Amino acid sequence: MAEDCIFCKIIKGDIPSAKVYEDDKMIAINDVAPAAPVHVLLLPKEHTRDVTTADAELLAYMIGKVKMIAEKTGIAEKGFRIVINTGDDGGQTVKHLHIHLIGGKVLGWPPC
Ligand code: 5GP
Ligand code: ZN
Repeated sequence: MAEDCIFCKIIKGDIPSAKVYEDDKMIAINDVAPAAPVHVLLLPKEHTRDVTTADAELLAYMIGKVKMIAEKTGIAEKGFRIVINTGDDGGQTVKHLHIHLIGGKVLGWPPC
């Protein structure tokens, strides 16, 4: 738990969120400012700064949950995108590792 981290506060329950999934290692919540009809954030419960500091096993665990959460939110069949923004140039605004799971419409490419 990092004192000034929004996602740690959400995980602790101090800030409310719309939970899509939870287990002992992670939660998945709806993004407060969705970029598409479905926009879910997968957060490890452990405060890990970003993909460069994350444990590979934890990352693999979270990616392993993507298909199930995509099915649960109705985007598995038509397709979706997963994104991990890292650092300032990568557009990371919350310094707690998270995977964006985005879908529900045709997504543009490239993303910049
Ligand atoms: P980043 O830009 O760091 O990759 O993504 C951070 C995401 O967290 C953004 O999409 C933003 O909308 C979302 N976000 C920021 N604060 C909150 C919050 O309090 N609750 C929820 N559910 N999402 C948040
Ligand atoms: Zn945190």
